[in-house]
Amino acid sequence: MPDKGITYIDEVDIQNKRVLLRADFDVSLNPNYTIADDARIKQNLPTIEFLLKKHNRLICIAKLDRPKNRDPKYSMKVVVQRLKQLLPHNKIRLVDEFLTANNKIFAEQETGEILVLENMRYYEENKKNDQTFAKKLASLADIYVNDGFAMSHRTEAWVVSVPKYIPSFGGLLLKKEIKMISKTVKKPKKPFVAIIGGAKIETKINLISKLTEMADYVLIGGGLANTFLCAHGYEIGKSYCEYDKVTMARHLLFLAAQKKTAIVLPSDVIIGDPDDDKNGGRVVKVNQIPKGAVALDIGPETKAKFGAVISKAKTIVWNGPIGYFENPAYRQGTDFVYYSIAGNRDAISIVGGGDTLAAISKKEYLNTITHVSTGGGAMLEFIEKGKLPGIEALKR
Ligand code: ADP
Ligand code: MG
Repeated sequence: MPDKGITYIDEVDIQNKRVLLRADFDVSLNPNYTIADDARIKQNLPTIEFLLKKHNRLICIAKLDRPKNRDPKYSMKVVVQRLKQLLPHNKIRLVDEFLTANNKIFAEQETGEILVLENMRYYEENKKNDQTFAKKLASLADIYVNDGFAMSHRTEAWVVSVPKYIPSFGGLLLKKEIKMISKTVKKPKKPFVAIIGGAKIETKINLISKLTEMADYVLIGGGLANTFLCAHGYEIGKSYCEYDKVTMARHLLFLAAQKKTAIVLPSDVIIGDPDDDKNGGRVVKVNQIPKGAVALDIGPETKAKFGAVISKAKTIVWNGPIGYFENPAYRQGTDFVYYSIAGNRDAISIVGGGDTLAAISKKEYLNTITHVSTGGGAMLEFIEKGKLPGIEALKR
């Protein structure tokens, strides 16, 4: 059992404590920095409400997006505002700078009052797993609760080191994620189909090798597909691609051939102007992408191929949008994959990833997915390794 050794908050009696809650408030933002989708905040509510009911005082720590420095556009203010709407009966305050904050803010925190610390991405020490920083965080509370599955693959101070200093527990969302994903991938029913898209190639490409061993089919779309098309020697114009990963992609294609796993790449794509949402793009075969063109979605032939594989699947794992969905002209591939998964009522399905959820969240059928995970990279890594640094750190 991969979750042996973790104590979850509903297995102990946590009352009248100061709780440092690592939450997953990493919502997708609109281009004007308002919240595009608050699913990630809502997924933490069961844990928040559970702890509040037992008269605990919560200090929430979370990160928002990926600011390089203390950029006010990525302040947790938007999260605090949304939390206030979701929890109208609680006092909720943002702590600007906890390192220099007047101790009174913490000392005078009332029962039921929630403090939210500023974006953890503002702190370079956190990323570097600095122990002084970890101790400082730990000193704010009596206990630590990790309810942020999506960041639990990172060896950062707030994930792996704070639990060394105070008693630590898993939250309800973490529990659900671990149970559901372990159950699905332990003995997956075949055919097992993995669908990977999106753009974070440097993090995802390493995870595809294990999936290549586990799955019968790996369908690749999104920006990721371009790197593979490049590995095949196709011209991909100005499409999103990470050229230093092409060798890795080639290696994966080789590995898949050995394992008899089918890696299914787009055979046609939609090319167009990413900034033009009026005219839509044009379908071309992958061997006919003009120099300078940008591939932004999969084409109809690829959809048919993906659809045929998904409809036969008994286990489905999906992470990563299939196209540049932020422009509605290029979200059809993503919609299609989503509807195909929803349409397969015989399969166990896990769908996850911040942008993936943002791309589909406004639609019906979400309840036909067996498990909607808050994690993208974390979900893939947990599937691959059966453990994550942040989960191991909670084990006693
Ligand atoms: P997730 O957060 O679900 O794990 P990623 O962060 O890896 O997903 O990727 C999401 C991003 O990938 C989106 O911003 C989307 O626009 C981008 N993307 C998908 N397909 C393409 C493409 N063909 N070209 C450029 N970007 C793409
Ligand atoms: Mg993302």
